[in-house]
Amino acid sequence: MSEKRDYYEILGVDRNVQKAELKKAYRKLAIKFHPDKNPDNKEAEEKFKEASEAYEVLNDDNKRQIYDQFGHRGLEGAGHSGPSGFEDIFSSFGDIFEDFFGFGGKRGNRVQRGSDLRYDMTIDFMEAAFGTEKTITIPKRVQCDECKGSGCADGSTPQTCSQCHGSGQFIQNQGFFKVKTTCPYCKGQGAIISDPCRKCRGQGRVEITRKVQVKIPAGVDVGSKLRLNGEGEASPSADGPPGDLYVVINVKPHKFFQRDHVDIICAIDISFIQAALGDEITIPTLVGEKKLKIPKGTQYGEIFKLNGEGIASLRTGQRGDQIIKVIIKTPTKLNQKQIALLKEFDKLDSNKISNKLKNLFKNI
Ligand SMILES: [Zn+2]
Ligand SMILES: [Zn+2]
Repeated sequence: MSEKRDYYEILGVDRNVQKAELKKAYRKLAIKFHPDKNPDNKEAEEKFKEASEAYEVLNDDNKRQIYDQFGHRGLEGAGHSGPSGFEDIFSSFGDIFEDFFGFGGKRGNRVQRGSDLRYDMTIDFMEAAFGTEKTITIPKRVQCDECKGSGCADGSTPQTCSQCHGSGQFIQNQGFFKVKTTCPYCKGQGAIISDPCRKCRGQGRVEITRKVQVKIPAGVDVGSKLRLNGEGEASPSADGPPGDLYVVINVKPHKFFQRDHVDIICAIDISFIQAALGDEITIPTLVGEKKLKIPKGTQYGEIFKLNGEGIASLRTGQRGDQIIKVIIKTPTKLNQKQIALLKEFDKLDSNKISNKLKNLFKNI
């Protein structure tokens, strides 16, 4: 490899060049030899890398001092190897190219999506089962219409931060590590607004409350998340996309129905006479009343099912079932005649539980 050229010579600047001048010189070369402008030109690529390396060193007070004292050898072993590729170059210099190429958004990290917002919504059981439409009011930050999100007063533009050269961060070599810190001058924005927009005070965004129409599909359940694309906050960058709005569903309990995914569950009281003799009873479903046949000899806790009377699946739209648990009530208020009849019945009952218990004890 040939002898390394002098960094000042590469950039064509004087040895006591000031930073502003240095940056200008570098920009000129960077634009001239930029790979986007010189596709498949090895020489231009080399020149571009060379200039970037020279700039990285001379722009860093610490490195520049070492270089001035010891030359290239001083920087060897100090953890400095120059930017290793284009990615490095772009991450170190951020949007120094931005105003020339207009691609700061793709290479740098300055164009951010707006934040996502979360809205917790409680709806009724039946609304969850059949879907509904709600209007919600959310406070959110949107792009300022006065400055179109730039944060600058009429006609002015943000100036690239002179401290971090637009990258929004400082990269320092500490031994083997590169440590990134947010630039305190521009607070990581990479640019400073000298004449801020009066409406948003330079924020580029203003807080508003906005009404959003939310369509809630049938079948949502506790914890269901609905995403409304682009209804989140505006991006902090003028040309960045907005975030999304997430509506997180909570469902109020129902006094009669419970829910197990797409099935609904309910409990029905019947008398022990109905359980013993069988009956046809009326039960409430999501859409109205339905008849249910109770066969004779039904036991406590027995489960019956009404197919297709559950909740529509969010994914398939197919409805689950209604599950009915039978609770047999023991009468607590009996008149004399009823008591007499039950005693009569008891005498005739060969299958009496107390008899079974006696037999059980005999066997122990
Ligand atoms: Zn504004
Ligand atoms: Zn800065």
